[in-house]
Amino acid sequence: MTVLTHPDTRPRINSVASDDLNEAERERIRVKSALFAPPEARLEDGRRDLVGMSREELATLMTEIGEKPFRAKQIWHWIYHQGATDFSKMSTIAKPLQAKLAEHFIVGRPTTTTEQTSVDSTRKFLFRFRDGQEAETVYIPDRKEDRGAVCISSQVGCTLSCTFCHTGTQKLVRNLGPAEIVGQFMAARDSYKEWPSPSADMPRFLSTIVLMGMGEPLYNYDNVAKAMRIIMDGEGIALSRRRITLSTSGVVPMMDRCGDELGINLAISLHAVTNELRDQIVPLNRKYPIEELMAACRRYPAASNSRRITFEYIMLRGVNDSEADARELVRLIKDMPAKVNLIPFNPWPGSDFKPSTREQLAKFAKIVMDAGFASPIRTPRGQDILAACGQLKTESERQRKTA
Ligand code: SAH
Ligand code: SF4
Repeated sequence: MTVLTHPDTRPRINSVASDDLNEAERERIRVKSALFAPPEARLEDGRRDLVGMSREELATLMTEIGEKPFRAKQIWHWIYHQGATDFSKMSTIAKPLQAKLAEHFIVGRPTTTTEQTSVDSTRKFLFRFRDGQEAETVYIPDRKEDRGAVCISSQVGCTLSCTFCHTGTQKLVRNLGPAEIVGQFMAARDSYKEWPSPSADMPRFLSTIVLMGMGEPLYNYDNVAKAMRIIMDGEGIALSRRRITLSTSGVVPMMDRCGDELGINLAISLHAVTNELRDQIVPLNRKYPIEELMAACRRYPAASNSRRITFEYIMLRGVNDSEADARELVRLIKDMPAKVNLIPFNPWPGSDFKPSTREQLAKFAKIVMDAGFASPIRTPRGQDILAACGQLKTESERQRKTA
């Protein structure tokens, strides 16, 4: 690829993002996101999927079928703590009510189209949703301990087109709904039979969530937030906000909301330290340049020394991996509770970047480390099954609008 070297003289949005500006931007993002809304979580026979409903919605549904709202608490426990998908297995519920629930509702899961396990034990799932669209989810087991991360998709495709990312070559088909986002995690738990949900002090095999699959989670914030609230609910899956990390390519106006409302960990796909280069490889930078992104990181409410912001930096040979780049990176994150994750570029069919050499990776990592930041080099996992970072893509295409 060619890299621009001339100075960037385009006007930029005021670098001190005012609240009003952010509010207007958030509204614009919300309107656009609604255009790609997921279909209603309902079967053709009219039965509704209870997965993905908030507790309040569940209580309302109970009253709609003439039941007391407290039933919602009971059902919640069966769905999210026990992992039950069959009303007849919900033994604390009387038989007639079980039958009535089954008449109106289902407890759904995405269909597993394929499940592949890598030589390094990474497992990739291709899930199909009710309208036939598909997304990928990856489970990455820790290499030493019995725990691991579930990498979840937030959209089918992506509106952004980072030049090194396979998902970016797939147009945005649609946003995933809360049922589909929570459903990926639950179906992965089904695969490892990790039900009922282990209590807070017990080890878990599926112990963390990273929103690092297909799509930009902050362009589907409402659905992602609803799903994360369900996953964090203490009477169900009960995964702590400290064990959830959302990765964004830098949707600045939504970062504040994510920190305030969800308090989950943040990862930033930085990948370049100058606006000239970042404009090209992470095109969202043209809208939210590095200065604004860094300012939003500095004010991220859920970051602290024990919960550092992760800066993801993909190492592309001869593009962004010089020692000068490393020094500039250090300058950008100075005084921030930050760590750096150096990601060797994972190739995919048709990509024209090359991974940095080992020597260059080591030099880069040393500069960052000597400045006091942890800078592990991420070992690619699941490359043999195209499950590594940036390799996810499905066959789903946006349907042409017909008259
Ligand atoms: N859209 C969000 C969430 C997806 S995370 C984001 O971009 O942050 C996917 C992560 O994998 C990002 O850090 C992305 O930059 C990285 N990635 C994309 N393509 C890659 C590739 N070919 N090799 C290694 N990492 C890649
Ligand atoms: Fe989208 Fe993230 Fe891939 Fe960029 S890196 S194209 S934002 S999924």
